Amino acid sequence: MSYTFEMLLDKINYLSNNDKSLVVKAYAFAKSAHYHQLRESGEPYITHPINVAGILASFEADANTLAAALLHDVVEDTKTSLEEIREEFGNDIAILVDGVTKLTMMEYKNKEDNKNANLRKIIMSFRSDVRIILIKLADRLHNMRTLQYKDPVKRRRKALETMDLYVPLAYFIGAYDIKTELEDLAFQYLMPQIYYETVALKEEAVYKATPAINEMQAEIERMLTSSQISNEVKIKIKNIYGIHKRILELGSKNDIHDLISLRIIVDEIMECYLALGLIHGLYRPINEEFKDYISNPKTNMYSSIHTTVFGPHSKIIQNQIRTKEMDLIDSAGIGAYFKLSKKDSKNIMQEELKEKYQFYKSLTEIDDTYFDNKDFVSQVNKEILGKKVYVYTATGVSIELPEDSTILDFAYKVDPENADKIVCAYVNEKEENIGYKLKNMDRINIVYSNNLTGPNKEWLDMVHITSAKRKILENLNNN
Ligand code: MN
Repeated sequence: MSYTFEMLLDKINYLSNNDKSLVVKAYAFAKSAHYHQLRESGEPYITHPINVAGILASFEADANTLAAALLHDVVEDTKTSLEEIREEFGNDIAILVDGVTKLTMMEYKNKEDNKNANLRKIIMSFRSDVRIILIKLADRLHNMRTLQYKDPVKRRRKALETMDLYVPLAYFIGAYDIKTELEDLAFQYLMPQIYYETVALKEEAVYKATPAINEMQAEIERMLTSSQISNEVKIKIKNIYGIHKRILELGSKNDIHDLISLRIIVDEIMECYLALGLIHGLYRPINEEFKDYISNPKTNMYSSIHTTVFGPHSKIIQNQIRTKEMDLIDSAGIGAYFKLSKKDSKNIMQEELKEKYQFYKSLTEIDDTYFDNKDFVSQVNKEILGKKVYVYTATGVSIELPEDSTILDFAYKVDPENADKIVCAYVNEKEENIGYKLKNMDRINIVYSNNLTGPNKEWLDMVHITSAKRKILENLNNN
């Protein structure tokens, strides 16, 4: 089935009439530029940009983003120049189109250093305008949805690139819906047999859990409504790749109880905790599996309360309790700000990214520190894409660090200005030296002294995060 521009128009009723005319103008321009071009599916090329814009319209993206999405392949694939786009549509749209074009052109080179340089460029386009990444993710998503028309070699290459680069990018900006769909599409092409086995497994598990889940859903709705908490309770099923990863983690296909969960959506944060109390009054929780990501959001700003309880028919069921806003941020990530702040969403997104998303700061530091592209990519892999350890400060703030991090990393992370005065630390009340390797759930209380002269060269070998390395080097050079 071919997605039409009329369908896109139906989706953008949230725009003003002026903004709609801009989208129509961009469509007419792109359609005439791509005239006669066909996709590998045999459909007119314009169906692709329409679909990319359609994906972004479901985030209620602004008119410039939608126009740029419609125009995103014009400069690369037709005779139109960027200057013409700038004259016709203004600088903001031209910058978006240029950003997406540059990212797309880089995919076709494959020498190792080019690959690293490309990765760096793609990763760093966050810094200028995150909307470029959102358009690029929508572009990749539509290409992955229509990957069956490509030849097998291209399919595999695209699927690998999607797993290695676009899935983590979507994760960083919290765009969970795009991330999970990309994962499943790539997984399907990379490991078709395991993919279909996992689909069968999921269907069986869903079938078995359905009576208990339905019963619990109805019960929670009834209970919240009778307590005057307006609510929506949805059933959420993990994506295929997520289930596959969980099976690998558990080493078993049985007992994946977080495969299906209930999502309890209320209006206010306070009501999340009221709902939690009510649910625990009705179903016994498994204490070890309780997580409060509202007080302690994940580093990609995911927030929600997770509690796993003994549900009806002895089924173990996970509940995720959140507000509507949290739910929106969970599915769209930074893209949620199109909806949450209609005015000036571009700048608000950039501000949010800078202030709250941990990877943004880490990436910026890595980019400023590692000149060589290979070193840059290797550090990104270690510090950002690799496994993490989660520990607590003395006041209970949860801190995320790369696996193998030390007390010294922790000290530079939580208080870079005082870290060079560190003597040792108490880890869960026990004294440890600064090279101690952190373990999940450690509670760390740093001991400082004013009589020390600051860092020495050995400290460089004890730290893993770039910000710590930079700070130590800076202090060594000053002393
Ligand atoms: Mn494209």
